[in-house]
Amino acid sequence: MSDATTPTTIRQHGPRALAIRWADDHESVYDVRGLRLACACASCIDEWTGAERLDEARVPMDVHPLSLHAVGRYAVQIEWSDGHSTGIYTFERLRKLCPCAACAGGEDLRTEESTNSRQPQRRNSDTST
Ligand SMILES: [Zn+2]
Ligand SMILES: [Zn+2]
Repeated sequence: MSDATTPTTIRQHGPRALAIRWADDHESVYDVRGLRLACACASCIDEWTGAERLDEARVPMDVHPLSLHAVGRYAVQIEWSDGHSTGIYTFERLRKLCPCAACAGGEDLRTEESTNSRQPQRRNSDTST
C-alpha cells in the first residue's frame, strides 16, 4: 500500500461532502451522493455482468453517510442515510475517484447530475413495476 492510497484523515466536510486527506498530502473532497452512486457492492453493481443495478432516481438527493467503519487497513464501509450499508470503498478506488482537477480523468464520478438535476424526467419513465 502506497502513501497515495493511505488516508490519514477522513472527515465530513459540510453536509454534502466527505474529505479524505492522504498520506502523500493530497486531499480529496467528494460529493457524498456521488460516492453513494459509485457504490460497487453486489446490490448496486451486478457481480457477473458489471451492469449497474442501482436506480439513481431512488437515491435521495440529500443522502449522506451516517457512519464510516474501517475495513482492515485497505477500505472503509459507509453506512448511508438511505439505509444502504453494504458498500465497501477501498482506499485505492477512493483515490481513483478523487474529483479534483489534478486527478480528473480517472473513474467517472457522477456528480454532474446532482448539481444540475432540474429535469426529473426519469421519475415519469420509472414504471418498471
Ligand atoms: Zn451498494
Ligand atoms: Zn485529487
